[in-house]
Amino acid sequence: MTPSFPLAQVGVDDFFDSTAWFLIRNLGLLFVAVFYVATVWWVFKDARRRIDDPWLVAMAVVLGAVPPFVGPIIYMFFRPPEYLDDVRERELEIKAMEERLARPDLHCPVCRAEVEGSFLVCPVCTTKLKQACANCRAPLEALWQICPYCETPVDTPTVVQHFDPWENEPRRQRQRSE
Ligand SMILES: [Zn+2]
Ligand SMILES: [Zn+2]
Repeated sequence: MTPSFPLAQVGVDDFFDSTAWFLIRNLGLLFVAVFYVATVWWVFKDARRRIDDPWLVAMAVVLGAVPPFVGPIIYMFFRPPEYLDDVRERELEIKAMEERLARPDLHCPVCRAEVEGSFLVCPVCTTKLKQACANCRAPLEALWQICPYCETPVDTPTVVQHFDPWENEPRRQRQRSE
């Protein structure tokens, strides 16, 4: 019973030399070190998603590492705003849009629905758009005298008997001028 008080006194006095203090200090240092490595690792992962050039990624990691804990904050100010995946996705979207615009946009002369060059009939209003080759069933352009796919002569060169000539003529001229 009596030795407990002097022991406690000794414990307080020598606390900073004790094993407990070393343990706490080392745990604290370990925590800081792990946190430091985590911030650098985060900078590396983030930079890799945003920067294409491996040298710039390496520089970002150095910046994230060298002023410890402050570097990642500086990096956050100067990092590219977009992920590379988003940039690529946007470029693909723009490319797809350009392709869509470059394609001559064909419309049904009767109902103005969008049709494709290979359509024989307008799927919306069932207007006949093109004649099919008698032999291979390929869709034939109005001016073709022979099927380019199977060399079968086209017996009725005027495909578009059902077309209003006023509707059809400008379209043909436009196609020829391209
Ligand atoms: Zn139509
Ligand atoms: Zn044919």
